[in-house]
Amino acid sequence: MHNAYFFVSLQRKSTKSATKMKEIVKSVHITLKEEGELNDVEQKLVDAAKEATFRSYAPYSRFCVGAAVLLENGEIITGNNQENCAYPSGLCAERTTLFYANSRYPDSPVRILCIAARNTSGEFTKEPISPCGACRQVMLETEHRFGSPIQVMLYGTNGTYFVKSARDLMPVGFDSSSLI
Ligand SMILES: [Zn+2]
Repeated sequence: MHNAYFFVSLQRKSTKSATKMKEIVKSVHITLKEEGELNDVEQKLVDAAKEATFRSYAPYSRFCVGAAVLLENGEIITGNNQENCAYPSGLCAERTTLFYANSRYPDSPVRILCIAARNTSGEFTKEPISPCGACRQVMLETEHRFGSPIQVMLYGTNGTYFVKSARDLMPVGFDSSSLI
């Protein structure tokens, strides 16, 4: 089994400068699994996310993104990007999927979110596809809403990245606990 690890660490360093400035280092722990190393559930989610790309509406970017989420109740919900000629009116696959899942099953926490992307020739990205900042913000809200982490799977034909929590993708993220 071939895994790559990028360790998470949080360090606070005090310098001995006159200002006593502190430095905080945050890094992300990513596990990489290649094809054939996924368990049945993981493979099912990758297949669902890939399949969802074929229902994308992406006439402008021609970049078809699919997402699949596994809910605590066992349901798998899929979605994809839905573009608009007024570009900001469109929506990414991750948010389309999470909003639908949470509107359909508002009491069932999201356990895993998997995304995949391809071009219109049917070629999936070699490197794992990564969610945009706005989607990360929604993922963070979903974690906060249910009080439980969402494992994130980022698919690429060279392998799938696994992170344990959306928080790992948004290490200094804003959530409702930040409100005063
Ligand atoms: Zn997005």
